[in-house]
Amino acid sequence: MTSVLRLKAKLPTPLVALADLAYDYWWSWTEERVSLFSTIDPSRWQACGHNPVALLEAVPLERLWQVAEDPYYLNRLRHLVSQFETYRREGHSTQRGNRAPWASQVAPQLSPDRPVAYFCTEFGLHESLPLYAGGLGVLAGDSLKSASDLGVPMVGVGLLYRQGYFHQHLNRSGWQEEHYAHCEVNHLPMELVRDEFGQPVTIKLDIRQRPVRVQVWRVQVGRSQLYLLDTDRSDNDPLDRRITGQLYGGNPETRLAQALVLGIGGVRMLYALDIEPMVYHLNGSHGAFGLLEVALRDLRYSEADFEAIAAQVRQRSVFTTHSPVSAASNVFAADLIESFLGGYWPHLGLSREDFLALGNRRPDDPWDLFSMTVLALRLSGRANGVSPRHGEICREMWQALYPDCTVDQVPIGAITNGVHAATWTAPLMSDLYRQYLGYDDPTPTSDPSRWSRVDAIPDDQLWQRHSLLKERLIAYTRDRVRTARHSRGEAADEIAAVDRLLDPQVLTLGFGRRFSPYKRGELLFSDLHRAIRILAHPRRPIQIVFAGKANPADDEGKRIIQRLMEWCRHPALRDRVAFIEDYDMAVAKLLLPGVDLWLNHPRRPEASGTSGQKVALNGGLNCATLDGWWAEAYRPGGGGQVANGWVIGKANPAPDPDSQNQQDADSLYDLLEHHIAPLYYQRDRAGLPRQWIAMMKASIHSCAPYYNSDRMVAEYLTQMYVPSPGPVAVSSVSP
Ligand SMILES: *Cc1c(COP(=O)(O)O)cnc(C)c1O
Repeated sequence: MTSVLRLKAKLPTPLVALADLAYDYWWSWTEERVSLFSTIDPSRWQACGHNPVALLEAVPLERLWQVAEDPYYLNRLRHLVSQFETYRREGHSTQRGNRAPWASQVAPQLSPDRPVAYFCTEFGLHESLPLYAGGLGVLAGDSLKSASDLGVPMVGVGLLYRQGYFHQHLNRSGWQEEHYAHCEVNHLPMELVRDEFGQPVTIKLDIRQRPVRVQVWRVQVGRSQLYLLDTDRSDNDPLDRRITGQLYGGNPETRLAQALVLGIGGVRMLYALDIEPMVYHLNGSHGAFGLLEVALRDLRYSEADFEAIAAQVRQRSVFTTHSPVSAASNVFAADLIESFLGGYWPHLGLSREDFLALGNRRPDDPWDLFSMTVLALRLSGRANGVSPRHGEICREMWQALYPDCTVDQVPIGAITNGVHAATWTAPLMSDLYRQYLGYDDPTPTSDPSRWSRVDAIPDDQLWQRHSLLKERLIAYTRDRVRTARHSRGEAADEIAAVDRLLDPQVLTLGFGRRFSPYKRGELLFSDLHRAIRILAHPRRPIQIVFAGKANPADDEGKRIIQRLMEWCRHPALRDRVAFIEDYDMAVAKLLLPGVDLWLNHPRRPEASGTSGQKVALNGGLNCATLDGWWAEAYRPGGGGQVANGWVIGKANPAPDPDSQNQQDADSLYDLLEHHIAPLYYQRDRAGLPRQWIAMMKASIHSCAPYYNSDRMVAEYLTQMYVPSPGPVAVSSVSP
């Protein structure tokens, strides 16, 4: 019996439909997401990490029957179920008028058994599925959701990490400690994929001269599926069972084994399920070995040699590169590659030298490391960076691989990242948009003319909704900080002080992302006296909420967090600076819509950044270096136009890190003190900051229709998956 049937058997008849919803993450981007499951049992809902399957399994039958007798609940459920049925058939309700879905007109060659296969080492769909670390995974999750909304046939291919990504705990000295929770896979919203005899579908792979059996789980994401490969089977060697143990955990050997399972295992799995992708999209390079496996399949039916077959593979492959930092990431030593793949390359008709050359930036250098990015670029017909600026950097960075091209001719284009609007817009805001933008869908995405109607939203209503989201964030932050102080055993007065932490009337900044030195999480405190003068200003105070993890191996990143924790305790700052531990999608959904202003100031260059886009969707403003998506999105204002945010530092900063820090910190202080705080505190008789609100509207209007994942997936479809014949477009098209 499948898990969903088991759950249905338990539920009272009027609630049986909840099981279908619980096993499809579609529910997580409906407006009912806040209350649908939580009303059943709020505290259990918290305790089980917002996992609806675990909730429904754990709630006592008596309580379920109470809910089953509540006519209001049943009405809402019926309404949602009918939306769900329409969605499964037709996708986005914005497309309801148009019965022939857009995607099938643009790309008739794609279908559920000939889909786009989207490979990524992490997927961030929802906080209840801890298979993501940050931006890369959330982007992958948002892509699957938009593909589902738009009707682009897409299957995700990833790994089921039994221990997921680590949880962050800060000890009494502010030092980050990591712990991994074991996923109870049988209580997650996923099904083990079985064959017609009820046996788990397994594929086999040779790793370290041993056969490894891999089973497959399926997660339903609206009309997209995510397939997760899992080596934790009792018939595998204990070492092999742990291959899919931790995301980014383990040594190079484990990470190489993960890359083999994801790439080679992923392609074998698709074929075992009778899925023959039209397009292989590598989001990040971790799945690049998969393209070798595709070549291997083609070779079996062909007399051609590897080069000729590789040319065929390139017709079907797309690679999105992310890291702007050169080859340092995702590389392996040649002898490690040899010990894992020495038995594989003869099947491809390749010698050791030929094979290693596929991953070497300088093919004549036998000591070069084997780079997954180089392999992906060599085997992909089309490649892109994730913002126009990032595309330029990638072309410079990888020019050596294209000796016949000038920098401008390097065939790496750009498609700017976007975010899934329905996931990242707080229901309080999408409700307002629905009222004033004139449509019945909570998130019309790529239609700029609709969004120009944000001007019609009355200032006081926009401000009131925004203020509610901010109060909610402050209440949440206090709860989290109180719990953290309790668990660290802090003194009673420290815990009581939480009641004074943050003030809804005060200009609130947010900063949430990985703490790695290049992101410069403590730029605001570069000059402590100046920071105190600005934050603790008697009439125009400023407060800030931080969140984010450091990589387990990154002691420098952990020291940054530790220093931030000191500022949280500093007598002049203690009510103004907060840190929320264990940043994840649940925290992001409260933090990003709740801030007035989002800070982003990595050392340049950065790839894209997406948090600021989520902030803009909810009416918050951005203050960021002119880099990544912001270099494209920023509108300075003037000439009758209202600016949509602020820029930190210069467009072409000093190249050495110390002067760049100095310049950018000065610029940030100057902006906060002389521009941002005065504007925020400038109120009319009704207490409204009219000019600030005008900027909020300019920001929503200029960002929402473009920096969303519907626009992004549509661009992938038309430019990368099924491009019209002709040379590869190098720069991205404008909206
Ligand atoms: C959006 C998001 C990210 C990505 O942040 P960037 O701004 O792209 O660095 C990371 N983590 C979580 C939880 C997110 O929601």
